[in-house]
Amino acid sequence: MSSIGMSRDYDAIVLGGGAPGEHCAGALAEGGLRVAVVERDLVGGECSYWACIPSKTLLRPGEAVHGAREAAATARVDIEAALAWRDFMVSDYSDAGQERWLAGKGIDLLRGSGRLTGPGMVEIDGMRYSAEHVVATGSDPIFPSVPGLRGLEGPSGGGLASQRGWHRSRGA
Ligand SMILES: Cc1cc2nc3c(=O)[nH]c(=O)nc-3n(C[C@H](O)[C@H](O)[C@H](O)COP(=O)(O)OP(=O)(O)OC[C@H]3O[C@@H](n4cnc5c(N)ncnc54)[C@H](O)[C@@H]3O)c2cc1C
Repeated sequence: MSSIGMSRDYDAIVLGGGAPGEHCAGALAEGGLRVAVVERDLVGGECSYWACIPSKTLLRPGEAVHGAREAAATARVDIEAALAWRDFMVSDYSDAGQERWLAGKGIDLLRGSGRLTGPGMVEIDGMRYSAEHVVATGSDPIFPSVPGLRGLEGPSGGGLASQRGWHRSRGA
């Protein structure tokens, strides 16, 4: 599909809208390229909804309580409030903000599961798109040998930070 003169839908298609995919697409668009991001779930990926952000948000109340107790004060974690704060920090699992960010950069968001069907060709739920370059982003986590970890909800072990029952039952 790289023949000279052939018109393509995009200069670049980024498969996977996790944080690295978004940054990659943003940089390409800023460089003047016509870019599309393919995402089958939430734009922002694991880090935004199931890993970095919710895990740090849930660690902070415990740290603050610990700090208060070290200073001879009394404090305890309000679990309901901590979970509500976590939900706020992950935008209630909505990627509407990321959708707006992509649109603001002139990047098309192609929702669905992407599949490479040839050089520069991506198929998304039966629709075919062509591009000069296809960038596949996204990585798979390595799971430590903790019994039951693989079965947890969410794209990876990051599901730990997005589970409601798990944290409630263990007092966060
Ligand atoms: C609990 C936890 C805490 C973490 N904390 C930190 C931290 O503080 N700092 C840090 O730097 N890292 C942290 N990480 C690691 C970080 O979350 C990952 O390194 C990062 O999210 C990986 O990004 P990625 O783009 O490779 O994958 P992802 O974020 O998973 O993005 C890939 C995206 O591609 C989409 N996708 C995949 N295949 C297709 C397809 N065929 N078609 C369409 N879409 C597709 C997926 O739906 C997904 O949205 C943490 C991880 C965990 C589990």
